[in-house]
Amino acid sequence: MLHVDIMDGHFVPNLTIGPPVVESLRRVTKLKLDHHLMIEDPDFFAPLFIKAGATSVSVHYEACRHLHRSLQLIKGEGAKAGVVINPASPVSLLVDVLEVVDYVLVMSVNPGFGGQEFIPHSVEKVRQLDRYREDGGLRFAIEIDGGISEHNVAEVVRAGVDWVVAGTSVFHAPDPVFAIHEMQQLADQAFRETWRFASLAPAGAQTSLRM
Ligand code: ZN
Repeated sequence: MLHVDIMDGHFVPNLTIGPPVVESLRRVTKLKLDHHLMIEDPDFFAPLFIKAGATSVSVHYEACRHLHRSLQLIKGEGAKAGVVINPASPVSLLVDVLEVVDYVLVMSVNPGFGGQEFIPHSVEKVRQLDRYREDGGLRFAIEIDGGISEHNVAEVVRAGVDWVVAGTSVFHAPDPVFAIHEMQQLADQAFRETWRFASLAPAGAQTSLRM
């Protein structure tokens, strides 16, 4: 999928793209368009981005006065709904919406700029979310965004991440295609070590493993 960072110059200092550019993007690719709204008024803009072609839309916990309603709005418009938390927000703040969301996006840098260094505590936040998911029998995906490279992708996947966002480590690599393949391979290997992978195995295979 393509991860599209939407910034409004208010919630974060940078300014990126609006619905008309997303519409143009939609015309040239069949990839899923994953929208990360770093904006002050997600309730107004989310439906416009979904109409323009967004497949999934995530909104910041820190930007939503009525988060539950914002998530329902996104689902009602036909997209997958995600919630994002900044590095300073604990994951415990999300407990009451975990049954509603399709995914949780953990910011592993402060939102607004590319090229920042990964914040190591993010891994613990992912582990905690993964525990909530396993204990509650929930199915939301965990996404991570910021400072991910070939050096830490395996660690975050082992901790519970399903969707990895990579910007600088791909677009600034001498060979971006190689960089993506290398990270995918590392992520696949790491995923096989997790309970999520074990839970995908057919019942028969699990029985024979136990024997
Ligand atoms: Zn993003």
